[in-house]
Amino acid sequence: MGDQVERKRTLATTVHRDNEGDLIERITKGFAVPRLNLKQLGRPPHSWIGDDAAVILTDAKKNWVLSCDFFLEGVHFLPEERTPPEAVGYKALARATSDLAAMGARPRYFLLSLALPARRTGKWMDRFLAGLRRAAREYGMALIGGDTTEKNEVAISITVIGDVLPGREVYRSGAKAGDQIYVSGTLGRAALGLELMLRGLGDRAGVRGLLWRHLCPSIRTELGMWLAQHRVASAMMDLSDGLSTDLPRLCAASRVGAEVWTDRVPQVKIPDVVRKLPGMARISARDLALDHGEDYELLFCVPRARAARLRAAPGFARIRQIGEIRSGTEVVIVGSDGERREFVSKGWDPFRRSPGR
Ligand SMILES: [Mg+2]
Repeated sequence: MGDQVERKRTLATTVHRDNEGDLIERITKGFAVPRLNLKQLGRPPHSWIGDDAAVILTDAKKNWVLSCDFFLEGVHFLPEERTPPEAVGYKALARATSDLAAMGARPRYFLLSLALPARRTGKWMDRFLAGLRRAAREYGMALIGGDTTEKNEVAISITVIGDVLPGREVYRSGAKAGDQIYVSGTLGRAALGLELMLRGLGDRAGVRGLLWRHLCPSIRTELGMWLAQHRVASAMMDLSDGLSTDLPRLCAASRVGAEVWTDRVPQVKIPDVVRKLPGMARISARDLALDHGEDYELLFCVPRARAARLRAAPGFARIRQIGEIRSGTEVVIVGSDGERREFVSKGWDPFRRSPGR
């Protein structure tokens, strides 16, 4: 069990090509994409599978936005109660709801499917539910259904439902050459917390506060809705798998390239107290920020002419421009030395194999 989470850590740092994308393509290939509604409404076609969430166009005043998300013991959170149950409950809903934020939708409802061992139905469950309720209150969401069953490890699947004014939803596919690329906050904080927990350093002095972003991530629902409502973002997604994995996905959906400036990426600060802990001396803030996921910050593009409007955005003080969209397909990262390199995907992919394992 512990081995699987251990594997996650190793996998996250390997350089093999990701093949989660291939799997999704295999699954979706045989299914027709319902474009009828789009044509009726005269909207440009876009990718219905492959965005952060699916959009159902309606004739009413709102469109529905849906997404589902697994949260599995030993894969997404540490086994044997090494992750506090409150954090499991909170994060299960937060990470699913982040995909609604990424479309600009307002979170409304969720369904909870839960498989768990009998020994987790008592106190563990109460604590799990306390965390889940806290997230639901924060995002204004109502639990409207689900399913439960028995299994030897905890497996959670959450379906989230939000709504958005028709035409205001933001897809990954709208970026154009010249658009500015932004992130909504510091990257690598969740990865630093995970690293500390995996090394069993979570209870060391001065460290507890650094675990928070990993255990109970803040998601950017207000900003996502604002960017959509004010038509400021041309394309958007949330950073769940790491910038080096997620930005190329956005670029592929938009059929554009990009240039990212390393020095502009807001990186986690690693405190001296952490540097002195076993195994942490050489940990790279840059790697954590570029190649590790679960920050759930928003990655979005803004046409130059609309950039000034961003000043009124919620959380503007945290927002940073990190690069620009380019024509072509190349996604490039420019180092402090001015050197341009291909931005190679090194983020989280559950199917990526690491050598020797
Ligand atoms: Mg997402």
